[in-house]
Amino acid sequence: MNSPKTARKGNQISAVGMVLAVVMAFIHLFVQGFLSVTAVVVLVVGIVIGALAGVISAVKVKMTDMPQLVSVFNTVGGGAAALVALNDILTTDGTPSLVVLITAGLGVVIGSVTFTGSLIAAGKLQGIGFVKKMSLPGKGIWNVLFIVLTIASFVMLCVQPEQRLLWSVLTTVCALIYGLVFVVPIGGADMPVVISVLNACTGTAVAMSGLAIDNVALIVAGALVGAAGVTLSILMAQAMNRPLLSVLAGGFGGGSAASGDADGPSGTMRETTADDVAVQLVYAEKVVFVPGFGLAQAQAQRELADLGELLKNHGVEVSYAIHPVAGRMPGHMNVLLAEANVPYEELIDLDDINPQFSSTNVSLVVGANDVTNPAARRPGTPVSGMPILDVDKSQNVVVMKRGRGKGYAGIENELYFQDNTQMLFGDAKAGLQAVIAAVKELIA
Ligand code: NDP
Repeated sequence: MNSPKTARKGNQISAVGMVLAVVMAFIHLFVQGFLSVTAVVVLVVGIVIGALAGVISAVKVKMTDMPQLVSVFNTVGGGAAALVALNDILTTDGTPSLVVLITAGLGVVIGSVTFTGSLIAAGKLQGIGFVKKMSLPGKGIWNVLFIVLTIASFVMLCVQPEQRLLWSVLTTVCALIYGLVFVVPIGGADMPVVISVLNACTGTAVAMSGLAIDNVALIVAGALVGAAGVTLSILMAQAMNRPLLSVLAGGFGGGSAASGDADGPSGTMRETTADDVAVQLVYAEKVVFVPGFGLAQAQAQRELADLGELLKNHGVEVSYAIHPVAGRMPGHMNVLLAEANVPYEELIDLDDINPQFSSTNVSLVVGANDVTNPAARRPGTPVSGMPILDVDKSQNVVVMKRGRGKGYAGIENELYFQDNTQMLFGDAKAGLQAVIAAVKELIA
C-alpha cells in the first residue's frame, strides 16, 4: 500500500483476506454448532446484499467521489461494530464481566460516534446542500456536554450492569448525538483530518467489538485499520498544520463555507487564451504543473502528462507540485498522475517545491484552488494556517478552471486577482487539449 505501483495488488490481497475471513467465520460457526437453517439464510442474504452493494458502488462510483464512499463504508463499519457490541452486552447470560462491559461499551461508544459522524462527513463531501449548511451555535458547549453524558452513561453501565438495558441505550444515544455535534461544525480545510480520524475510529470500534465477542479476525482487522488510521490522522494533521486536538474539538478555522466571503479579494481576473499559454510554456526554462481537484474532476491527467512530455522533449524543465490534501483524498494527485504514467521523480512534495517557485517561469495551475490560496497565510479564514503551494511567487501563473467556482473551503482565491496571474477558463481536459495543439504548432 506504500506506493501507487503496488497499491492495486495490496487491495487484491485485502479482498482475498476478507473472503477468507467470511469463509472461516462460517466454518467456525458450523464447528461450534451455531448454524441453524435460519442463521444460514440470514448470513447468506446478508453476504449477497453486502457483496452486491460493494461491487456496484466500487464499479459505479467515480474516482473523485471515492472519499464519500469511504465515509459511507465507515458509517456501515462503525454502525455494525456498535450493533455487535450492543448485542453482546444485552444478550450475555447472567451479568457480563467488567472486561466485556468495558470492551463492548467502548465498541458501542466509538462505533456510534463513527456512525453519525461519518454520515455527516459523507454528506459534506457529496456537497449535499442542507448538510453543508448545517451549523451549531455554541459548538464547543455541545461537544463537551455530549462527551460528558456519553462517558457518564458508559461508567454507569460498568457500575450497574444489572441496569444494562437502560445504560447501554443511553450510552448509544449520547454517542450518536456526539458524532453529530462533533462533525457538523467542522468544515473547509479540516475535513481531510476528520475523515482519517473517523477511519481510525471505525477500526478501533471493530477491534473493541472483536475483543468483546472474542473474535480474532475482528481484532486483527480492526487493530490494523485503527493503527493505520491513527498514523494517517497524525500525518494529515501535521501536513495541514492543524493541532489534532483542536480539530477533534471542532474548534479550528471556523470552517463555515461562507465565512471567508466578506473580506474576499477585490479586483479583476485577467483572461488569456490557449495560444498565449502555449507561447509562455514553450519559451520557459522551468515550468511547474500544480494539479488539484479540478484535474481529477475533468479526468485530464493524461493530457497533463502529454503536455509535460512535449515540453520536456523541447528542453523545458517540468515538475509537478503535490500538495498533501489536493483533491479529495490523501495521495489523490499521486494516484491520478501515476495512472497517467508520470515518472514518480517528477512529483515534488510541498516542502521541496515551495523554494523553487521563485525561479519558476510559469506555474500552470490545473483545477487547484484552496491549496494555492495565499489567504491561508492570514488568520481568520477557513484555510488559515494550512500550508499552501507558493504558486503566487512564480514569475507567471496560468490558472485553468471552468469559471469562477470556489474551492472546497468555499472562499475566493486571492491568487486569481494577482498581476502575474492569467486565467484560462474552460474544462481542464478541453483546455489542455487546446494548449497541447497550440504547443505542437509552435514547436513544429
Ligand atoms: P479545490 O476543491 O479547492 O478546487 C478545485 C477547483 O477545480 C474548483 O475551484 C473548480 O473551479 C475547479 N474545477 C472543477 N472541475 C473542473 C474541471 N472539470 N475543469 C477545470 N477545473 C475544474 O481543490 P484543491 O485540490 O485545490 O483543494 C482540495 C480541497 O479539498 C482542500 O480544501 C482540502 O482541504 C479539501 N479536502 C481534501 C481532502 C483530501 O484528503 N485530499 C478530503 C476532503 C476535503 P470551477 O468550478 O470554476 O471550475
